[in-house]
Amino acid sequence: MTHAKEHTVNLRPRLMSFCFVLLCAALGVAQTPAAAAAKSAAPRALIVVAHPDDESCFAATVYEITHNLGGTVDQLVITNGEGGYRYSLLAESYYGVALTDEAVGRKMLPEIRKRELMEAGRILGISNHFFLDQRDVRYTQDIDEVLEQHWQQGVVLPEVTRRLESGNYDYVFTLFPTPDTHGGHKAATLTALQAAQQMKGAKPVVLGCQWGQKDGSRQPSWEGYKSEAHPFRTLPGEYTTDRTVKFGFRDAISYQTIVNWEIAAHKSQGQMQNAYNHGELEEFAVLDDGLTDEAARAGELFKALQETAAHPRRLPADVPAAHLLK
Ligand SMILES: [Zn+2]
Repeated sequence: MTHAKEHTVNLRPRLMSFCFVLLCAALGVAQTPAAAAAKSAAPRALIVVAHPDDESCFAATVYEITHNLGGTVDQLVITNGEGGYRYSLLAESYYGVALTDEAVGRKMLPEIRKRELMEAGRILGISNHFFLDQRDVRYTQDIDEVLEQHWQQGVVLPEVTRRLESGNYDYVFTLFPTPDTHGGHKAATLTALQAAQQMKGAKPVVLGCQWGQKDGSRQPSWEGYKSEAHPFRTLPGEYTTDRTVKFGFRDAISYQTIVNWEIAAHKSQGQMQNAYNHGELEEFAVLDDGLTDEAARAGELFKALQETAAHPRRLPADVPAAHLLK
């Protein structure tokens, strides 16, 4: 694995826990013993994405897996996110760094965005983060530019494969590779699919995410990106998490709040902050990875999520306050 380099930027909180997670990533530590013990009963999922913030597409689904089903979700991020400096204006004073200056932004954002992702991960209940620290050079829709020019050759696919093989995951969450999505998104998803296809033995179900609106004003197309060099199939069937399910006192609460918190954690990404309360539905299709039971396994997961959606985890009344402040 290519790892985070030495970080010298002087940012505030939770340096120790952040370093610990990086150390875990460096050592390939994948899960806590408790998570391992719970494996058979609860789903295990790995997020594979190009950028720190791409998990927003399925933030409510991840929260429900970790909180309602007692599952384990890890996240692997391929790039260092340095290309996200253009919308960082409001984050300049927050972090005290001239992030919209390209040279400064590219130097400082990799660490800042890791910290933002750790905060987002705490909200969603993500157990472990793994960083491949590939360069986030520029926006392009060209998957081959990303795979051949931006990312180190011969690094990403073996690392994703190694993570999948050592993590014993049931599901992989990715962004669905639409024709017009970022080349990094296409590359991350199709690399994850290829890694799953290469696995021997039990393989995870690979799910591609898009967001939609309940009134149909935005409905995902599952046509997908077409390329002879990067072929993939999308199975029929669509699976949905509804962020707007209401619960709690006077049914006033919904998972939109969780998604908004997750978005707010990515403060350096100013444009993303406009996504509060957008996207009522997290919609998924199975990307064919050569199994025969993907549809059934995906169906099981989303049935369990729907059944538990209105019952997010509560803490016992006598939980020590210190637990909440960790
Ligand atoms: Zn992205």
